[in-house]
Amino acid sequence: MPGERILVLGGTAEARALAAALAARGFAVVSSLAGVTSRPLLPEGEVRTGGFGGAEGLARYVREEGVALVCDATHPFAAKISRNAAEGARLAGVPCLRLERPAWTPQPDDQWTEVADLAAAADVIAPGARVFLTTGRKGLDPFRARRDITVVARVIERPEPPPPPSWTVIAARPPFTAESERALLLSERIDVVVTKNAGGRREKLDAAAALGIPVVMVRRPLKPPAPVAASAEEMVALADAAL
Ligand code: NAP
Repeated sequence: MPGERILVLGGTAEARALAAALAARGFAVVSSLAGVTSRPLLPEGEVRTGGFGGAEGLARYVREEGVALVCDATHPFAAKISRNAAEGARLAGVPCLRLERPAWTPQPDDQWTEVADLAAAADVIAPGARVFLTTGRKGLDPFRARRDITVVARVIERPEPPPPPSWTVIAARPPFTAESERALLLSERIDVVVTKNAGGRREKLDAAAALGIPVVMVRRPLKPPAPVAASAEEMVALADAAL
């Protein structure tokens, strides 16, 4: 019912779109950010920042703030907060729904090697390769020990601890165009792209496919079972039905 309070667990473009869509439907939305980026893009409406203190802390917040529904719109690779969301909502006795952008699936020209995690991705890179790493600031560690490869890492914020001095670090925030992705792969003479299966825009994948460059694709972690919407509009419909 409009007016009810909905907690949107965010940190993604989808969560920002969802906060706007739920507010437009008349719900009282509070968006939650982990507080891990220094200049986050903020959703419209009320925002809280920082961890809850596990599932119990999230349940306490839900009860104290009169939250009627939890919408987990976190990144597909943010597995811990999704577990906490499901468990915290269960403890507090409110429903938990998930907004999840569909995973990428291989297209005819894609040359993917799918791996289970970042450590496996670091293991499959051939010695001497020039690697374009787009696994995020926190997804760099398994590659630091590979002193036999050349790394070009693209991150939104500078990684801590700093990467090895031999790495090229490009700080940039998406979206990127197909032309700029192609130009970067060519100018850096990239042999292989490493990425997590985040889903969403495919420019870097399309540029790699067009240039015949293989991709090491890290599969998504498992998330707990929940009703899943693929778009903000679908999620508003699920929220309407749940409240
Ligand atoms: P994570 O490993 O699943 O969660 C680690 C801890 O961070 C959680 O236990 C929770 O702390 C806190 N947390 C995470 N998301 C939160 C949120 N939206 N609001 C309040 N607390 C939150 O998460 P992560 O992979 O580090 O991602 C952190 C944030 O960045 C998420 O909001 C996610 O949507 C966003 N993000 C992640 C990625 C990625 O590749 N992982 C990419 C883009 C954006 P407590 O246990 O103390 O509550």
